[in-house]
Amino acid sequence: MRPDRLFPLFAPLTSLAGVGPKLAKPIAKAVGGDRVVDVLFHLPFALVDRRARPTIAAAPVNQVATIAVTVDAHRPGRSPKQPYRVVVSDETGEMHLIYFKAEGDWLQKLLPLGSTRLISGRVESYDGQAQMPHPDYVVALNEEERIPAVEPIYPLSAGITTRPMAKAVQAALAKAPTDLPDWLDGPLKAREGWPEWHGAWTSIHRPQSADDVAVDGAARQRLAYDELLANQLALALVRRQLRRVRGRPIVGTGTLQDKLRAALPYRLTQAQELAIAEIAGDLAAPTRMLRLLQGDVGSGKTVVALIAMAIAIEAGAQACLMAPTELLARQHAASLGPLCEVAGIRLGILTGRDTGTARRRILEQLARGEIDIVVGTHALLEDGVAYRNLGLAVIDEQHRFGVDQRLTMAAKGKEDGLDVLVMSATPIPRTLTLTAFGDMDVSRLLDKPPGRQKIDTRVVSLARLGEMVEAVARALDRGAQVYWVCPLVAESETSDAAAAEERFGHLQARFGELVGLVHGRLKPAEKDRVMQEFAQGHLKLLVATTVIEVGVDVPQATVMVIEQAERFGLAQLHQLRGRVGRGAQASFCILLYAANTGETARKRLEVLRDTDDGFVIAEADLKIRGAGEILGTRQSGVPEFRLVDLDRHGALMEIAHDDARMILERDPQLRTARGEALRTLLYLFERDSAVRYLGSG
Ligand code: ADP
Ligand code: MG
Repeated sequence: MRPDRLFPLFAPLTSLAGVGPKLAKPIAKAVGGDRVVDVLFHLPFALVDRRARPTIAAAPVNQVATIAVTVDAHRPGRSPKQPYRVVVSDETGEMHLIYFKAEGDWLQKLLPLGSTRLISGRVESYDGQAQMPHPDYVVALNEEERIPAVEPIYPLSAGITTRPMAKAVQAALAKAPTDLPDWLDGPLKAREGWPEWHGAWTSIHRPQSADDVAVDGAARQRLAYDELLANQLALALVRRQLRRVRGRPIVGTGTLQDKLRAALPYRLTQAQELAIAEIAGDLAAPTRMLRLLQGDVGSGKTVVALIAMAIAIEAGAQACLMAPTELLARQHAASLGPLCEVAGIRLGILTGRDTGTARRRILEQLARGEIDIVVGTHALLEDGVAYRNLGLAVIDEQHRFGVDQRLTMAAKGKEDGLDVLVMSATPIPRTLTLTAFGDMDVSRLLDKPPGRQKIDTRVVSLARLGEMVEAVARALDRGAQVYWVCPLVAESETSDAAAAEERFGHLQARFGELVGLVHGRLKPAEKDRVMQEFAQGHLKLLVATTVIEVGVDVPQATVMVIEQAERFGLAQLHQLRGRVGRGAQASFCILLYAANTGETARKRLEVLRDTDDGFVIAEADLKIRGAGEILGTRQSGVPEFRLVDLDRHGALMEIAHDDARMILERDPQLRTARGEALRTLLYLFERDSAVRYLGSG
């Protein structure tokens, strides 16, 4: 149950003084929520400093000033289009206050002739005449305190202007409890010089200086840390809960593994062997496995997963392998098929395309235990899918799935805790790994299989398209196969497809029957057919949208052209590039940028030219684009932070991570005074479900 003290914060917006149903709508839109807390968490993006108190003559143009003046004259506009002017002065000169569409009566009252007033606003100059259009504040000299020294400016949306927004925020601040017990570790707070929670909000919403609202300022850092701590604590609790469900020890006999190893045309790398050993250790333990297998494109994750699944099968269990797309699921099935056959492992496939009797047969076989490994898409998560004895779930290209899907998968494993291995080719920087997975165990494939060559990457202007087409022609003559990737033109797959179709037309005119086309709008069967023809070498040049991004494996393909590469993220380009350089032949990647691409964007592409280290690229991407975009915030299950700016507060993540771990070690049920305060923190950031995993407090 949410603590009483937080109730005012979770009351609807309309509980704020001065906010009725009419204002509530645009405010909710601007702040991204319809409760008081959403307004409290609405951070200012700028400050207006009203402390400058110049004379009229000395007031700098285009800056905000607060000036004491006497009202000399009122000059209504001669037509409705002309502004109403109020002439004011001080001992140094004259200034015009300009009002468009103003009521004369109202202005007479606000600025009576002969009165003295303090005005605050932006000073402008028109034909040498000092002006202040629509002063922000006009108050009597003895009401100076009504003008804030420093005024925060908030993001707005249609239907809400600065003043009412600021008022709503002040009202929300007034509702923020002042007596919340602090959940922060005292020494940490002291060391960082962080304010109390309420004090931090006061700094942000009633700032005295730019420092008070700065992203790196003490107040904002503290609040960001609160959010990170809530995130890490919640993840740790969820994870503990998942682990509490007893796993079962899965110990292999080695027979299938031996057969598979013997059937492989290569030796496993040291990194692969190490990952397998770590996974085997997890499987054998009585607790459940939650392990992330992270490895750059082409690092050979699939075979590691296969051996892990073989261990499960040796122990009498079943395994499933879930891929994010139909194409990938089918490709996995195709590449695992021959190995499984040699080892006598029964492999099945289940995707959204399998319907009717085919589907029913697969489901029956799964339920009866006649399939050892099932490969599929999220169709594997559907309700009708039941296993006789599922022991291990492998989730490929993890970042495409959300946390929910991961947990649904985890729930499929009967009464015992299912062991889960997730594989990601995105070299997620450590900060992000922590955010998305908490302290999931990680195995990394840092080295690549031997014999891989660096992909020769060139950054070339689209203006040289003609030359590139001729270079492709020469490559085709040499017997190479080529990917030609068309850009994401817009959000919709339809327009992507259109761009790809157009390029396909051009290239087909040049290369005829050798050219194939795949994009997201094709029927899955059609897509598979084209991919198949490319894989078998009947098609030599494949025009594609990013559907080929993940996992596609055609070793003979050695050239990749990416059009309008500047539109892609670096990590995504790296993924795409990973489709070539899979065989022994020298490989090329040509990044074509649009002629109007700026210097910075071009420099960015050069990162790819200069390195093929996925981690370096991911870090560069993180710097350039921020966290959300790298993983695609929505799909990734990376929480959308409200107060944290991962680019600037990333370093706090590690502290929060350790903090959360220590907290739960010392106070597993959050029952101490600090524990109680931490429960409040979890509620404040709406991690209610995590609190449910605790005994009642
Ligand atoms: P990814 O990690 O991107 O999923 P894959 O598992 O698809 O990589 O492996 C990429 C290619 O490398 C595959 O063709 C696979 O057969 C091959 N491969 C995997 N391990 C090795 C190894 N130890 N030595 C040589 N080739 C390997
Ligand atoms: Mg893969």
